[in-house]
Amino acid sequence: MLKNYRDFTRLEMERLDKKNTIVLIPLGSLEQHGNQAPLGTDDIIAEAMVEQIGKALEQAGEENFPMLVFPLIPVGLSTEHKNFCGSITFRPDTYYHLLYDICSSLAHHGFQKIAFLICHGGNTPIVQVLSRELRSELGIYPFFLSSGAFSHPDVKATVSEGNIWDFHGGEMETSMVMAVDESLVKLDTAEAGIPASFVQNKALLPYGTTSIGWMSEDWKTKEGKPIGIGGDPSGATAEKGRIILETSARILVQGLLEIRDWKE
Ligand SMILES: [Zn+2]
Repeated sequence: MLKNYRDFTRLEMERLDKKNTIVLIPLGSLEQHGNQAPLGTDDIIAEAMVEQIGKALEQAGEENFPMLVFPLIPVGLSTEHKNFCGSITFRPDTYYHLLYDICSSLAHHGFQKIAFLICHGGNTPIVQVLSRELRSELGIYPFFLSSGAFSHPDVKATVSEGNIWDFHGGEMETSMVMAVDESLVKLDTAEAGIPASFVQNKALLPYGTTSIGWMSEDWKTKEGKPIGIGGDPSGATAEKGRIILETSARILVQGLLEIRDWKE
């Protein structure tokens, strides 16, 4: 099992080989995930991923992998979801400075390797900008890990046929929450979402080479009602979620080994 940063005493922390210990910072969000999935979907996925990463490392014979899990950052950058009830967001500069200050404190105590476990895509641009600043200003090494192996064939195979827009609050994310606790998902309320203003387009899409700063109202039901999710959650199951979580964690192991061994 991975060790938690917050469980260490001061004396234990003093004795730790901080230069060679990776600090894993799980980055979640608190935002709407459609009718059926909880606001804390990304936080729930982040916690499940940390557990699965620990198991995957053990299976790879790395019981004593040098990594500490930092407390989950439960709110992120969710501007695109703020008009749906319950979504909470930092402003981009607040989020940047919050993460900067945490990393600066870690660097002050001698940690050099920080791995962000990104469990909400909206956090990615800030983390990328931040990481270059941390590296150039503090001389530490920020790495990123993604919570979902969404292009892996085993994960793709969990998505129902025809569900081509699945990414936010859809079948995959809903399944991952169900793998943790099925009672958190109200599947009978599920409605599918597509990017209605873009579906006729060949080039201008919500993501790709020609894009826009989309808001989640751009994702609508077939009838044109803003629903805020991409994909159709109706086919979600706990078993699919288990496959996605386990696959996503397993394929991070090699990267983590290389982060451990990485030297400039
Ligand atoms: Zn999400």
